[in-house]
Formats: sequence, C-alpha cells, structure tokens
Amino acid sequence: MDRLEPEQEIVCVDCGGRCFLLTPPREDGEWLPGDVVAYRCEDCLDRWDLVLPGDDDGDPDGVDGQDPDWA
Ligand SMILES: [Zn+2]
Repeated sequence: MDRLEPEQEIVCVDCGGRCFLLTPPREDGEWLPGDVVAYRCEDCLDRWDLVLPGDDDGDPDGVDGQDPDWA
C-alpha cells in the first residue's frame, strides 16, 4: 500500500528558495487525502498551503449531469 506523505521540502514558486514543511503529522503519523499542509520559504518567508491529493479520481467534472440548477 502506498503511504501518503507530503514532501518535507518544496521549491518556492516565488523565489525558487526552499520551503520547509511546517505542519506536523497526526499522532499516528498518518496523512489523509485532503489534509492541508503548510510550508514556509526560508528565503522570502512566504507561506504555501498545499492540499494532499486524494485517491478519488480528482476530477471535479465527474458530477456533471447532476446539476441541480435544471430544476
Ligand atoms: Zn520564497
């Protein structure tokens, strides 16, 4: 089984510097799809929030055809 885990470090979109993971894991160390993890850039100190990808198909268009607006 794949274990979902965020990157410990990402590249800053703004300055290209290194952003380090701020968010600690749960007590059991488990990460779930949809968890929001925050990173802080060491250079420009920008904060980045990422949402962990889910294991659903991730396609929001999948609900097409069930648009309640038709009524
Ligand atoms: Zn930066």
